[in-house]
Amino acid sequence: MATKLEQDAERRQYFANVHQANQALADNDFNLALRRAAASLTFVESAYSYERRYEKNEHFAFAAHDLIFRTAPPLFAFQALDTVEAHLNETKKMEKNSDYDFRGQLQNARDQMRLAAQLWDAVRQQTVSPVQLREGRDLISIWERLGCAFTAGATCRLALQLDCSFRGKCSFCGAVSTAKKSSLLKEVRCPKCSAVSHLVLLAPIAKG
Ligand SMILES: [Zn+2]
Repeated sequence: MATKLEQDAERRQYFANVHQANQALADNDFNLALRRAAASLTFVESAYSYERRYEKNEHFAFAAHDLIFRTAPPLFAFQALDTVEAHLNETKKMEKNSDYDFRGQLQNARDQMRLAAQLWDAVRQQTVSPVQLREGRDLISIWERLGCAFTAGATCRLALQLDCSFRGKCSFCGAVSTAKKSSLLKEVRCPKCSAVSHLVLLAPIAKG
């Protein structure tokens, strides 16, 4: 059993990681946001029990989980969801004591990812229906922030041709490289540091 001091230290680590994740999100660096949120999971149990026990906080917000469940589907970041599941299987107590529906949210995120794959195909083929547009609003809004899709009237289109080049920043080392637009939705290997990640979109180098 961790001491109060130890739990408090872990709680601070949790909130620091969540804060960094939210900042990355504000910068549209979704990959970094997911990484910080995943890193915070190591400390979430301590943060949760400290808040309950010493701060009498009965409404602990599982912000890192929320962020992962919302952000992973449009980026097809299935590994982030696997990380959440593995963590849940290791830490049964938090799940038992809290009324946050971890498993339901996880399942919902996986359903959203399947929906995202269908929607993305429809966007590419320009066959998005008004229903798909409505149901996929959250997914599309993240693609819009990534700069790879936009809504026009009752449909959604690719912002640029997928084989068009863009400048992207590696979210590990910050190196800027040029890649095909299609790589915004999948992880690519950084030519400088070799890390595999989503590139962060910088300004387009040409219209198209
Ligand atoms: Zn790099």
